[in-house]
Amino acid sequence: MTIQLYNTLTRKKEEFFPLEEGKVKMYVCGPTVYNYIHIGNARPAIVFDTVRRYLEYRGYDVQYVSNFTDVDDKLIRAANQLGEDVPTIADRFINAYFEDVSALGCKKADIHPRVMESMDIIIEFIAKLIEKGYAYESEGDVYFRTRKFDEYGKLSHQSIDDLQVGARIEVGEKKQDDLDFALWKAAKEGEIYWESPWGIGRPGWHIECSAMAKKYLGETIDIHAGGQDLTFPHHENEIAQSEALSGKTFSRYWMHNGYINIDNEKMSKSLGNFVLVHDIIKKHNPQVLRFFMLSVHYRNPINYSEELLESTKAAFERITTSYQNLQHRKEASTDLTDNNQEWLDKISALHEEFITAMDDDFNTAKAISVLFELSKLANYYLLEKNTSVGVIDQFTKQFEDLFQVLGLTFEKEELLDEEIDALIEKRNQARKDRNFQLSDQIRDQLKDMNIILEDTPQGTRWKRG
Ligand SMILES: [Zn+2]
Repeated sequence: MTIQLYNTLTRKKEEFFPLEEGKVKMYVCGPTVYNYIHIGNARPAIVFDTVRRYLEYRGYDVQYVSNFTDVDDKLIRAANQLGEDVPTIADRFINAYFEDVSALGCKKADIHPRVMESMDIIIEFIAKLIEKGYAYESEGDVYFRTRKFDEYGKLSHQSIDDLQVGARIEVGEKKQDDLDFALWKAAKEGEIYWESPWGIGRPGWHIECSAMAKKYLGETIDIHAGGQDLTFPHHENEIAQSEALSGKTFSRYWMHNGYINIDNEKMSKSLGNFVLVHDIIKKHNPQVLRFFMLSVHYRNPINYSEELLESTKAAFERITTSYQNLQHRKEASTDLTDNNQEWLDKISALHEEFITAMDDDFNTAKAISVLFELSKLANYYLLEKNTSVGVIDQFTKQFEDLFQVLGLTFEKEELLDEEIDALIEKRNQARKDRNFQLSDQIRDQLKDMNIILEDTPQGTRWKRG
């Protein structure tokens, strides 16, 4: 069986085969690093990390590139507000990004290019587009001549005429046509800038991905991915820039993940329902967040709420508990049971189901339901009077393999004893100060970490639950 994936370009599930046998070139649009990432940024990070893991599991050598947008309007605004420079802000939030996504089990990309470090290739790309007549300079700005690229709109399935209706020239833009978009922006007073053949300025947003993908993966890549909101205009513009320059297909498959709602509402700054990963993982096991994200097919919308995360936690723990129970039983097991093959067959049937689910457009929702089946089967097996080391090992291997593909681990994150003692001391002080809100908060925090407190006349004792 081969992997089938849904290609936004053709709006169909297609059989996946990379251009070069055994090798997959994959590019995923990364975040703009002006703040901690919110839960909407976490979804593509988790989803496409899982796609990569699965492709690797199926034997492909995946070259994975994901950029950081470290220069743009939002960064410039943040720098002005905080009285810092753009590179300082970018460095801080790139570090924070790595901290957050590694807690979520995402592997680092092979290359994480940054705009600031890619200025030469971006300028060269733009210069070549001008040479070919696809771009023009206008008072220090450079624009892409959208109408000259015949296939514009093919990814978002819109015609040039549909697009014309919504297009307009923004104040300060010096373009020849409403549909043209900026490749280079002349520096405004007080903004960070770079030297270019068109004067000082900085790149527009879309050009970076075209330039970086070309440099690190070549003119034609296999999979280009990102959030659904990037389909238009960002990815449409990337295609126009790249294909105008090379005359070749830019990306053979386009994958987009669906939106996230918070408490059934669209996440937006104005609604004040912005949820930062940084905050969630202080309170919840990041693995549970990952498991939650993968429990819905990546193309479907997902609704996030604290309650849903809580119930996911319970579900996740059902699986890890089965795994741990198997480990405990191993010592008491023999190799003398006579129904080994029957159990081994059941396990391998579930393994096949898992592969079938993942082959079908990376259906992690279905794959997770197979994990629950495996957990049920393991629990059922543990009811047997005699268990076999061989069967237990096979169960263990299955759990571990499937967890690894999904980017999950069985390692428990635990608080160190001294961290617990320090929290208890803080709670005792809070109680003395009659600050019961704080003392209850600490008790709940410990409870979340599975630490149970017992207040005795001799002081507070604790144990791991
Ligand atoms: Zn991009």
